[in-house]
Order: sequence, then C-alpha cells, then structure tokens
Amino acid sequence: MARPRCAICGAPAVVYLRYARMALCREHFREHLLRRVEGVLTRAGLLRRGARIVAAVSGGKDSSTLLDLLAELSRSYGLQVYPLHIDLGIGEYSAHLRRAVERLVSRLGLPLILVEVRRVLRGDGVPEFARRAGRPTCSVCGMVKRYVMNAAAEALGADAIATGHNADDAIAYIVKAFIGQDEEQMAKWLPYTPPSGGAVARVRPLYEVYERYALLYAIVNRIPFTHEECPYRARNSMEDTIKEMFNRLEEQHPGLKIGFLRRFSKKRSAEGVPGPVNRCRICGAPSQGEVCSFCRLTERVYGEPLGPEMRRAVAEAVEKALGVSSGSGRGRASAPPQGSS
Ligand SMILES: [Zn+2]
Ligand SMILES: [Zn+2]
Repeated sequence: MARPRCAICGAPAVVYLRYARMALCREHFREHLLRRVEGVLTRAGLLRRGARIVAAVSGGKDSSTLLDLLAELSRSYGLQVYPLHIDLGIGEYSAHLRRAVERLVSRLGLPLILVEVRRVLRGDGVPEFARRAGRPTCSVCGMVKRYVMNAAAEALGADAIATGHNADDAIAYIVKAFIGQDEEQMAKWLPYTPPSGGAVARVRPLYEVYERYALLYAIVNRIPFTHEECPYRARNSMEDTIKEMFNRLEEQHPGLKIGFLRRFSKKRSAEGVPGPVNRCRICGAPSQGEVCSFCRLTERVYGEPLGPEMRRAVAEAVEKALGVSSGSGRGRASAPPQGSS
C-alpha cells in the first residue's frame, strides 16, 4: 500500500488523526497541535506579546512537548516563556528527568529555572520527606510542586503557570472526581483556572491534545524526554482504568474525548473555584489556613518551617536563570531576549 499522504500538502504523513479523519505530515501535525494550544491560550487571554508564562517541565513526554510548542508561540507571538524544572530528589529517576530537560532547554535556547528540593529539605528528596512526615509520597510531592511553582511564578511576576496535563489526564481526573461527587476537584479541571486568593493562574494548553499525540509529537520531533515512570506511581490506578475505558469509547466514536472535554468546560466556569484565602504568616505563600501546608509539614519534620528558605531558593534560581544579580530584589526581573533562534 502507498504510504499515506498529508491531507494538506501531500507530503508523507506521520500521523492519522481519527477524530479529524486526516493524515498529516510532520509540519502540519505540528501546526495542528499549535492551533490547539493557541486556542486554550487565547481563551485564557494569554496569547499576547509580553504575557509571562512559567512552563512546568518535568522531563516527561507531555511537558516536553508543551515546552517545545510554547517556545514556537513565544517566537510568533512574543510570549515570555520560562521553563521551570523541580528536581524532586527521587534517585536516578530525577537525574534522568533533569538531564532530559537540560537538553531540551539548551536546544530551544531558553534559560532554565532549576529548583533542587534537597538543598532546602536538609538533603532529603521528596520520598524521605514524605516518609519522615508519615504521609503518602504522591500527596507530599504534589504539595511541594505546587508550592515551588507558585513561588517561582510570584518571583517572576508571571501571568500563569502552564502544566503538561493532556486531554486524557483531564478526563481521568474529571471522571474520578465525578465518581466521588467531588465538585471542587471537578471544577479544577478546566483549561484555565484564573488567579485566586494569591495563587497564580493555571493554564493547561494540552487540554485538547490526546496523550498519544503528545507522545508521537515528542518522538517525530526528536524532543528529549524520558519514558521512565516515577517509581512511586501507583499501578492500576483508577485514573489508568478511566483512560483505557475512554480510549475504547474513542475507538467506537472518534472525537468523543474532545467532545466530552469541550462540553464539560463550556458548562462550567472556574469563577466558583474557591482558592486559598490567606497568606501564610510565616512565608507569605497563599494558604487556606493561617500557616501553609509546606511550612506546617516542614516544621513538624525538620523542627522549623522551611517556607521562607524555599522561597529564597526559588527566587535565587529565578535570578540565576535570568542572569540578574542576587540582591536586586524580587519581582519583575527582566528576561533575556527570546525568539532569536
Ligand atoms: Zn503537510
Ligand atoms: Zn508558609
């Protein structure tokens, strides 16, 4: 059989998009994904010159694909994109992720904001911290990541934090929350969560990109990333089962997943999502209570709240990445010119 050709230009195709009934070449596949990302950013009011976006990049396929696409948009629209990598100190796994991210940012010519949690957590990685706290590793990990992402976004005066969650992730979290009838969790899984009570806005530019296409994009564009999975990731989780289930439905009804997410997000607005209401009296981070969970947990484990130290470490990582001398104050540090490559 002849190799399928791109529906737009006739070049050899790299992908067949069932939901669009279209084969695409590498270039037009890229265009297709860029349009999806642009759509989310436009509706969030972020597709404009000077918009400042922190891109949380783990070194996995999704966030690496996301950063590559955002870098392209920063060239065409003048967005300021700041890749942030958090080294969680999970042994070799973290080392591999970090190397992948370093290769990717150097290829894109972007400065990397690198935060190593060990430096603040008295030499502990997230697993040791969680063990000492007697809490599940993944929940502590999520808490640390949220804390660092928000601190970095505040130090940069960023408009939003972009994460690599894809369409399949969003569906899995929405359906899981629906099963538990957790309205608050459900409302979180929109393409955009506006800033609220001191928490920086969140944007999920891959909201309408299927997991398999995020992976394929990374492969056909030779984007550095690691396939490795976190050793603490739960096997056979409810999320995995929901993903499988929706992929079977998608087989029978191409476009079902995107249709579901569009109807879901159209029906809801994020206005009603209750954000943190206070500022932590110790570190100043947005917090539900008087003291934030990072300060509370670090105090219990290490004898003193480490929020202020973590915020300093993050501010230093920002300054280092942007080449601003330490002590020049927090806030809107100027960025090196982007889009020269
Ligand atoms: Zn083409
Ligand atoms: Zn705090």
